[in-house]
Amino acid sequence: MNSNYEVVIGLEVHVQLTTDTKIFCGCSTAFGNEPNSQTCPVCLGLPGALPVLNRKVVEYAIRTGLATNCQIAPRSIFARKNYFYPDLPKGYQISQYELPICEHGHLEIETEEGGAKKVGLTRIHMEEDAGKLLHGETPETAGSSFVDLNRACTPLLEIVSEPDMRSSDEAIAYLKKLHQIVVYLGVCDGSMEQGSFRCDANVSVRPRGQQEFGTRAELKNINSFRFIKQAIEYEVERQIELIEEGGKVVQETRLFDADAGTTRSMRGKEEAHDYRYFPDPDLVPLVIDEKWIEKVRGGLPELPAVKVERFVAEHGLSREDAEVLCAERAIAEYYDECVRLHGDAKPCANWVMGEVQRRLNEEAIAIDQAPVSPELLAGLLKRIADNTISGKIAKTVFEEMWKSGRDADTIIDEKGLKQVTDTGAIEAAVDEVIAANPSQVEEYRGGKEKLLGFFVGQVMKATRGKANPGMVNEMLRKKLS
Ligand SMILES: [Zn+2]
Repeated sequence: MNSNYEVVIGLEVHVQLTTDTKIFCGCSTAFGNEPNSQTCPVCLGLPGALPVLNRKVVEYAIRTGLATNCQIAPRSIFARKNYFYPDLPKGYQISQYELPICEHGHLEIETEEGGAKKVGLTRIHMEEDAGKLLHGETPETAGSSFVDLNRACTPLLEIVSEPDMRSSDEAIAYLKKLHQIVVYLGVCDGSMEQGSFRCDANVSVRPRGQQEFGTRAELKNINSFRFIKQAIEYEVERQIELIEEGGKVVQETRLFDADAGTTRSMRGKEEAHDYRYFPDPDLVPLVIDEKWIEKVRGGLPELPAVKVERFVAEHGLSREDAEVLCAERAIAEYYDECVRLHGDAKPCANWVMGEVQRRLNEEAIAIDQAPVSPELLAGLLKRIADNTISGKIAKTVFEEMWKSGRDADTIIDEKGLKQVTDTGAIEAAVDEVIAANPSQVEEYRGGKEKLLGFFVGQVMKATRGKANPGMVNEMLRKKLS
């Protein structure tokens, strides 16, 4: 990138809420059902039907606002955003405009240089989603489009950042943090493929040192972190090139083409006044008292940043390990439970980040579907700690536990995997190995000390991995000296 320019990025994220019902009616929000099976006069926009606000949506908005350091407005207003589109039966979308529910928040992100940076959060407002258009793909339906209004009136939060980000990496760091928070809060399922967390990026460039912002382009509806990064980087290069060639960036909405890795113009950008916002006369102003806010605050889960601190301070984990474990709430809770049962944090962390994570990846399942529960894992770690089995045998036992869902003790007993700590048995194996390898013994005694590993290996092999490695080492050294 041309270093004479500075990049300015602001992000608008649409978060679909996990409430069971829609924002202004009682229809289900379940995904993937028969088109138009989840509709009623309200979300179909029939004349005379009146919206009734879903209390849960307000609670989720407050929860999100508190977790992102926002002020919660004691009084906010729903407004009509007027435009026509076939998937919007009322001819307007109910949103919030002048008085949103949350304002003046911030999130802290890590920068590439390793420091912390505050990204301002301008506002969070509640709104309804539109329906979906399906374009005919069979020979009979080609050329026709169909409207599915199951998604119409589904609750969304729009979370708008300040234009505080200065690189695509900062934008991704912000998005990942926000994604992590809404999933931790349980207000969003986080699925980017299903569109539950989607992002518009406002991107502009300006000559370094210039105060005022350059003209921005808005990149619409991008649904993966990787694509957002690609789209921003392409757009930055495009704008700089354009300016260097003497051209001018125009304010517009652009679409990202994932196959080509480029952005292309979709339409000239609308201004807010194009929408003729006005307060929705069907909905009274929303008044939230301090009591309600405090009640929601009291019910907030432990947020990722706090969890990381606790794992570092109380469990003695490195910050890096704590962050890996806290990336997903369910994984962090699994680990936490394991520590509560086993008592020793370090092996729990290693096993969760190691074997457990590896098996989850292999089978592409979530941790709540893992056949080895925290209780079962803690049971296994206890047997390593009390020297019943070695760490190596434990991996075999774990594999068996994963396949069968049975506990470690049963498997250890059944397969006779108990570690041999009986001095006599180990001594016999050591003597046997020494007797069988006279030339190696001679070399070892002649100074080739790294042969010790060879002898240990032979003894472990002879005992099928069950001898206590510490005892084997000690006995070999004694007998070979
Ligand atoms: Zn409805």
